[in-house]
Amino acid sequence: MIVKARSFPYSLLGLQALQRRIPKNHPQFDNIKERVRTTAAGVNGEKVLDDVFTKYQFKFDHFIFHDLNLTSTGKFQIDTLFLSSRGAFILEMKNIAGRISFPDQWNQMIRVLDNGQTDAFECPSIQLERNCYLLEDWLQARDLSIPVSGAVVFTTSRQRIENTRPHLKILFPNEIPIFLRKRELTPQMLDTKTLSYIVDQLMKGHVDYNPYPMCEALRIHPTEIKSGVFCEKCGTLGMTRIYRGWGCNACRNVSKTAHRQAITDWFMLISETMTNRDCREFLHLPNNYTATRLLGELPLEPNGVKRGRYYRFPLEKMILE
Ligand SMILES: [Zn+2]
Repeated sequence: MIVKARSFPYSLLGLQALQRRIPKNHPQFDNIKERVRTTAAGVNGEKVLDDVFTKYQFKFDHFIFHDLNLTSTGKFQIDTLFLSSRGAFILEMKNIAGRISFPDQWNQMIRVLDNGQTDAFECPSIQLERNCYLLEDWLQARDLSIPVSGAVVFTTSRQRIENTRPHLKILFPNEIPIFLRKRELTPQMLDTKTLSYIVDQLMKGHVDYNPYPMCEALRIHPTEIKSGVFCEKCGTLGMTRIYRGWGCNACRNVSKTAHRQAITDWFMLISETMTNRDCREFLHLPNNYTATRLLGELPLEPNGVKRGRYYRFPLEKMILE
């Protein structure tokens, strides 16, 4: 059964907001654009991995955790963890197309595209091994000694793997069910009680990764972020406040909700908190009263009183429909 579904792609949403709100001539613009592209490709790869487990039903007791963030001797993130009475199996996703090889002399993975472009990546065996160690440490801290192993899953269908490393297990999505079924033929290592204890502990240990606010990590100064409200229809920045709504001067669209994305963008990019004044300035509002009313529309958590009042946006409430 799937115990933990994949977390919402917070990083992708934040990067998209950043791409919208930094000037095209900003020195980081191309970098941000490339990160949006690779992060979106990663999200698609995760879907491929998720599909394997939603479509295939295993007939033995098992627990699936997508996107697990834990802390033991270090922080670590596991793309998918498959837990059964045979132990823990980590699946690390790689979303890389092209001709792939693993040179003997370096701990790298080399990818050559059809046009000849060659890129070097850290060998996925390093990350996989690191995650196996960190999960073992995490289990040991709870007096649990269970077998931990794993594989790297290539989620795009457009790659050719030329060689591999002796100790690196590589799987393609459609091989996963057969591989995990065969693994169940090995001797049982855990009883049902221990398994459910581990499941419980993993769920308690997981904390959603919060990448916000993104400006700080990417060393972009908040003053470099374009303020204002975007038109949901034509994408133009600078909707003007009209009676109980927003008007777009470019396409004449009228919206009652355009400020919601702008307020969310503030929390994703600029700061963990927003004051009435921040809101008024960022949304170009005429007065405090309007700012208070618009802030009250979102599931924000207010703190402080009167002039010292500020709002926070809890991560799990940030997903706007
Ligand atoms: Zn418009």
